[in-house]
Amino acid sequence: MIPDRFEYEVAESVEQAIDLLGSSDGTKLLAGGHSLLPLMRLRVARPSLLVDVGRLRELSYVREDGDRLAIGALTRHHDLANDSLLRERCGIVAHTASLIGDPQVRHRGTVGGSIAHGDPASDMPAVLLALEAELVVRGPDGERTVAAEDFFHGVFETALGPQDVLSEIRVPALTGGWSYLKFRRRSQDWATVGVAAVRADGAARVALTNMGPTPLRATAVEQALAGGADAAAAAEHAGEGTTPPTDTQGSADFRRHLGTVLVRRALDETMA
Ligand code: FAD
Repeated sequence: MIPDRFEYEVAESVEQAIDLLGSSDGTKLLAGGHSLLPLMRLRVARPSLLVDVGRLRELSYVREDGDRLAIGALTRHHDLANDSLLRERCGIVAHTASLIGDPQVRHRGTVGGSIAHGDPASDMPAVLLALEAELVVRGPDGERTVAAEDFFHGVFETALGPQDVLSEIRVPALTGGWSYLKFRRRSQDWATVGVAAVRADGAARVALTNMGPTPLRATAVEQALAGGADAAAAAEHAGEGTTPPTDTQGSADFRRHLGTVLVRRALDETMA
């Protein structure tokens, strides 16, 4: 379908983007456009004004920041997948970016767009939960930092306000193992279920994609591991506290089964 009518402005800076977002009701940021434009074509989204931040190259970077890495929100998936610093110090983010969509999606889509969109089937949010990442948000009242676990509120709902711009993602440099596994019917599909696992501070952290309206920490699995369970026994707890959807990709029961299988494999990879 053809989108409804909308106005279009290119922002030259984050500050200008924040001002433009406040200039009328129904404004929306446009980054890579690979989630927003399909929704506009379906007329599920009908913004009155699109504020294009896709050309703000100042928000496209991966930098060392003490014992963490700082990632600009407008960094494209392709650039994350191929960034040598990220591959060396926090390989799970680069690896996960390489699994998103197809080459066209990875060349246009941005990490910030993936997170801000709040789609429970997106891959990166679960990885950020497992990493206990921090998200830097700039808005009319200045800058604030939101923990990944407080960011995702529901399907397409996040901690972002109408004039907020997600500007940076901060992840720890990893010294332990990690894994991100996604089950999908075709190679470029979204995850039917995904599992992120990292070993940090002497413990395993596990998070799930598409097992509820937001990405979820698999706390029952983590507690079982902390209590001495092996990967197979801990993985049996993968479905606890989840509310997976039933859709054309699979039933809720099938997703719970996948969760158990993928958590066990991800833990095996992480501990290896
Ligand atoms: P846009 O579409 O431009 O924006 C998405 C939303 O986020 C909008 O509401 C926008 O206002 C808001 N937004 C964007 N940037 C910011 C910001 N910096 N601050 C605040 N709000 C912001 N994703 C996966 O995770 N896994 C997949 O397997 C996958 N497969 C795909 C296959 C196809 C065919 C397509 C079209 C998309 C797929 N995607 C997948 C989604 C893709 O990763 C998108 O790039 C991503 O979800 C959105 O990023 P974007 O830069 O395109 O955002």
